[in-house]
Amino acid sequence: MKTISIWDDIERKEYPSLNENKSVDVLIIGGGITGINTLYNLRETNLNVILVEQNRIASSITSRSTGKLSYLQNDLIDKIRNKCGDKIAAKYLHSQIEAIQKIVTIIKKEKLECDLEKVDSIIYTNNQEEIKKLENLRKFLEKNNVKTYNTTNSLIINKYIFKVKDTYIFNPVKYILLLANKCNNIYENTSIKKIEKNSNYYICYSNNAIIKAKWVIIASHYPYFILPFLFPLKSSLEKSYLSASNYNGDKLSLISYSNPFVSIRTYKNSLIYLSNSHSIEKHICDKKNFNELMKKLSNLKLKPNYSWSNVDIITNDGLPYIGVLKDNIMISTGYNTWGLSTSFLAGEILKDIILNKRNSYIKLFDPYRKTICSFKDSFINVWKNAIGFVKGLININKKEDKSISKICPHLGCKLIYNEVESTWDCPCHGSRFNKEGMVISGPANNDIRRI
Ligand SMILES: Cc1cc2nc3c(=O)[nH]c(=O)nc-3n(C[C@H](O)[C@H](O)[C@H](O)COP(=O)(O)OP(=O)(O)OC[C@H]3O[C@@H](n4cnc5c(N)ncnc54)[C@H](O)[C@@H]3O)c2cc1C
Repeated sequence: MKTISIWDDIERKEYPSLNENKSVDVLIIGGGITGINTLYNLRETNLNVILVEQNRIASSITSRSTGKLSYLQNDLIDKIRNKCGDKIAAKYLHSQIEAIQKIVTIIKKEKLECDLEKVDSIIYTNNQEEIKKLENLRKFLEKNNVKTYNTTNSLIINKYIFKVKDTYIFNPVKYILLLANKCNNIYENTSIKKIEKNSNYYICYSNNAIIKAKWVIIASHYPYFILPFLFPLKSSLEKSYLSASNYNGDKLSLISYSNPFVSIRTYKNSLIYLSNSHSIEKHICDKKNFNELMKKLSNLKLKPNYSWSNVDIITNDGLPYIGVLKDNIMISTGYNTWGLSTSFLAGEILKDIILNKRNSYIKLFDPYRKTICSFKDSFINVWKNAIGFVKGLININKKEDKSISKICPHLGCKLIYNEVESTWDCPCHGSRFNKEGMVISGPANNDIRRI
């Protein structure tokens, strides 16, 4: 069994690294789906834009997702209803439907062969206490002109289940690599270490060059800096465990409503199965979570060929953060595990902000929006970070390797060794490093210090 994502098992063309200083209108930091969608959206403007990626493009959070384009997103709509009200939740729902239509249109227009398939999305619960909530979500969808249908599924035990139409599955890595082919000015192995403001532009320092930019777009998933915005107060992280096994059934896209989180989809002759999600500070041992996942697969008589884990950002009110952070620095992140389609809208929103055009989603996703999320939510996030920090210190999963420091270069949390994927993982903010200490996922933007 390979301990990489099924999407990562692909040949990639290499982009150059940036070795000369540049002066540009827009610098995009990060070559995941957010960065590449934004670069694509800015391609037909007169702006001079470059994108820098600290590793290879499409090699981080996006490449370890389940690759669904769906507006049926577990209990996220209900979280937004609770925190922001029905009107905002309905607007979010319609933003997702629109985002999916837009990304599908681009895939077809640009003839991107990224294994796009139209498939109904099914949601279920086998938890007695959640039936009422799921019935309620169904009513909310119907009230907002989304048709729902009765259905059945024998792969999972369910007490209540329904489905919606016009949703898709695809290969997110193929999508990024093919869309990147339509764009210019992409630099890999180029990490931004520091950004300084200088009158009306920014000076951005990478490993080998200095970039002068009027606008900076942070598309790096979890930003490496604390100020502006105090990101750790406004988000937490969720980790999940995934596998891909041989499977010959019909195409399928399925999620649980909430507890325990499960997400299933088919890809060609494979079945991708996600489970054991937990808030990152509840991290105990990757091996235990992978073993539990393997047990579930064995009950279904599935034999995995790939297994991997992934982490995404959860925001306090369930809405992503897309827009201006300060002056001409912008961000797009915090997708609550549903960023593949939202990131396409993000590209449009950020473009419209730069061009000073109207966009009906600017207010909805404004990072500084006023919602009822409060001091209490921020306190809980800090508390979670503190627990992650302590868990790192008393780490039960010790690996003796005296050649590298076990301290995360981001904010100094003690790293935990993930013996299944052979990575060093940060239990506070989700940074990951390979066995040799090279950073493979941010917010850290430096390798682990060698002793
Ligand atoms: C288990 C799981 C399953 C998911 N499944 C789905 C799904 O089915 N559908 C869906 O819509 N969403 C899904 N998501 C969510 C989705 O994968 C993410 O929201 C989305 O991929 C985030 O994309 P991104 O471009 O912001 O981040 P990334 O893909 O992580 O890209 C950010 C890039 O920035 C680079 N970077 C970081 N720091 C720097 C720096 N200083 N300088 C230069 N580059 C830098 C990184 O190397 C990285 O390549 C899932 C998430 C998880 C955890």
